[in-house]
Amino acid sequence: MQTIAAVSLAGGQGKTTTCYFLAKMLAQAGKKVLAIDCDPQANLTFFLNHEVAPDRPTLLEVLKGTVSTEDGIYPTNDENLFLVPADSGLAKVTEYLSGSGTGALILQIRLQAVKELFDYVIIDVQPTRSQICLTAVGAADWVLIPAESATKGVNSLLDTQKFLAEQAQVMAFRGQILGIIPFRDRWVGRTQTLESRDNIAAMREFADDAPVLPTIRESEKFKQATRQGQLLSELGAKDLEYPFEKIIELLEDCKQLNQS
Ligand code: ATP
Ligand code: MG
Repeated sequence: MQTIAAVSLAGGQGKTTTCYFLAKMLAQAGKKVLAIDCDPQANLTFFLNHEVAPDRPTLLEVLKGTVSTEDGIYPTNDENLFLVPADSGLAKVTEYLSGSGTGALILQIRLQAVKELFDYVIIDVQPTRSQICLTAVGAADWVLIPAESATKGVNSLLDTQKFLAEQAQVMAFRGQILGIIPFRDRWVGRTQTLESRDNIAAMREFADDAPVLPTIRESEKFKQATRQGQLLSELGAKDLEYPFEKIIELLEDCKQLNQS
């Protein structure tokens, strides 16, 4: 089982979008996938069309350990794709995590119980340095950093890299950065806008050893797909799936390297 978290410390950088398409496309390729919504905004839960019923366990109860991890996992409309959902109540877990002393390790510990059941765990992370974010990062073998192709995105990338380095220093992040994904890369016809070009160039400069992955193009199709619970290919926009195809290739390559 490989665990991948989408992390950025600013809002609106493409984390949920990345998790949604990556999880669905991995599942479509026949992998057993567990999506985990580590954000009380619960956008991923909503995109995967899951409605949290009153009194049914969510990530909150899984993290607290009041239910088994399996009891917090629900099927989705996609074969092979399962979800640990969230709702706004997830914010309450902060107290438990900060009081536990090992908050950053809790999600990793909870996932041990299901490691034989899934090939990939995809975690959508809240955009703040919260206890929820710490535990998500603590569970990750790989982090993807989506960053808007704008000044805000470059700043978010720098903050996120700094945060991950700090966490690595105290052994609370033991994974690696799989890559930086420039988000909302804007092209007019066959020409990339100057803003996108310059900001993606800045990302390359600041990337250190992390690869800058193929960009997510600015397009309304992504919103349309998430709203309708569909894949981009189902909307006739298979070309826009390229960044996620590349991530899947990278993950499969890493798996083979680990096994050999
Ligand atoms: P938050 O930090 O609030 O959780 P996020 O990092 O998860 O945000 P998303 O929700 O994935 O970011 O995307 C931010 C916004 O951009 C959303 O309103 C989404 O509909 C929109 N969006 C997604 N993909 C694209 C795209 N390719 N082009 C333009 N807009 C997009
Ligand atoms: Mg989000």
